[in-house]
Amino acid sequence: MEKPKRIDLEDRYLHKKLREQLVAELRTKGITDEAVLSAIGLIPRHYFLDSAFDKIAYEDRAFSIAADQTISQPYTVAFQTQLLKVKNGDKVLEIGTGSIYQTAILSALGAKVYTIERQEALYKKTQKLNSMIAELLPNVYFFYGDGFEGLPEFAPFDKIIITAAAPKVPEKLWEQLKVKGMMVIPLDESENAQRMLRLTKKKDGLAKRESFEQFSFVPMLQGKSQS
Ligand code: SAH
Repeated sequence: MEKPKRIDLEDRYLHKKLREQLVAELRTKGITDEAVLSAIGLIPRHYFLDSAFDKIAYEDRAFSIAADQTISQPYTVAFQTQLLKVKNGDKVLEIGTGSIYQTAILSALGAKVYTIERQEALYKKTQKLNSMIAELLPNVYFFYGDGFEGLPEFAPFDKIIITAAAPKVPEKLWEQLKVKGMMVIPLDESENAQRMLRLTKKKDGLAKRESFEQFSFVPMLQGKSQS
């Protein structure tokens, strides 16, 4: 079956009901941050998927989007966002724009989001979607580039979130994090599993390291990919 290209940009009663159910499910799975849960209740996830997926957009699972990449599972988005402790006005660097869903959640929490995607095709897709739903994405800045490099010209950041499986803590990103800033990163543990870490930058530049559950992400790759 060919994938429909139309995006359904209507937010109907049914979608709101489905989001309420998703929020309830995330609570049972252990998400407790009310601000994160309300952001998930607010952002129409089906905007970030093809319209054929309309009704299942609110199931707690990941999907493929363009260019063989995925939109993270809602639980993963909620978990990473909760760890990041986003405050209104925080300057957040996101690596791996993908579908923009995670970006939209950060933006709904009042963050100023700088988001980088390495795949040109996805970057172009996000530009198009952003022009259609700009009011849902205030204070979001999109970049096509290699996330390993970060954005030195906009550093330092209060928070850094990596939404692809990282082979190691990217040094340049660590340098771009403020003291007392936090990085949430799924770090490779075995071939298909990453350990979610929260690293807080101490005054001496070293990391306080907290370790959480295992997740499975697409890999964080070096360099840009052109389409
Ligand atoms: N936050 C996204 C997750 C998408 S999957 C969402 O909620 O939908 C991870 C994304 O990271 C993919 O789009 C992939 O292309 C991108 N990625 C992988 N390595 C990268 C890198 N070095 N720099 C920027 N983006 C990268």
